[in-house]
Amino acid sequence: MIKIHKQPTAYRGRFAPSPSGPLHFGSLLAAVASYLQARKMKGEWWLRIEDIDPPREVKGASKHIIQTLKLYGFEWDRLCYQHQRLDIYSKYINMLLDNKAAYFCACSRQEIKRYNQQHARNLAVYPGTCRAGLNGKKARSIRIKIQHPDITITDAIQGRRCLNLTEKIGDFVIKRADGFFSYQLAVALDDSLQGMTEIVRGYDLYESSFSQRYLCQQLNLHSPDYAHIPVAVNAQGIKLSKQAAAKDIATEIADKTLWQALKCLGQQPPEQLKSGGLKQLWQWGLKHWDIQKIPREQTINSPV
Ligand code: GLU
Repeated sequence: MIKIHKQPTAYRGRFAPSPSGPLHFGSLLAAVASYLQARKMKGEWWLRIEDIDPPREVKGASKHIIQTLKLYGFEWDRLCYQHQRLDIYSKYINMLLDNKAAYFCACSRQEIKRYNQQHARNLAVYPGTCRAGLNGKKARSIRIKIQHPDITITDAIQGRRCLNLTEKIGDFVIKRADGFFSYQLAVALDDSLQGMTEIVRGYDLYESSFSQRYLCQQLNLHSPDYAHIPVAVNAQGIKLSKQAAAKDIATEIADKTLWQALKCLGQQPPEQLKSGGLKQLWQWGLKHWDIQKIPREQTINSPV
């Protein structure tokens, strides 16, 4: 029997970095926006390290991220790690399997691609081959069954949109072929079970919200509100990331970088605060923060 979780009442937000490398300016934007929004709402702000993808994890990155956030002056109400929550993810996957809301899948990426090519289908969409059973093949991953595909989200920055999950991605993976839990599953469960009321993060994760809300609906769990800020891109228009050789954020000039982050987020910090120290800048940020001023764009040029 699935327990129905109550809607949380007090505001709670979070920043949820993956330890795949040091923080860059794009991650700082998400940290600043989620932090100031939580404080403005007189709510809590949690730091959640999303360390359940060992193939992508960089040794020492978790510590480095935490240290950098400290040096920037962030103060979190709780620090948690996804690797300590694996039992919870397993429990919910079992519930979904028991309810026939999820199923084992034997398809490899190559097989899915070939099938979609032959049938002139969108290559990124799972065609549902294993819904009817494995046909004697060995199970690789576990997928959620999309039964009610239309999901509507009213994003505080990006507006209202309805997305059809069957057309966009199809039954998506909740446990991967390499045995690790999928990002969608872990984030949806954590955001809900940890009582998050609003998720403020980069636009690169906008479409993931629809999958995450779907998972919550399937499990009768509360789903948070969303606000997706524009994602920082480099001079070539490519999202800042480790792969795109994004620079780490400098801690020696934290006040200048934080000033730039506030500016990118549309907050118009006064020029004289650029090198006036972190304390003053945070005070200004807390007093003047207005989520409505964030540009309603998908990308923003990174100044660093
Ligand atoms: N861990 C994800 C990342 O670092 C972000 C998760 C989220 O904010 O939902 O890209």
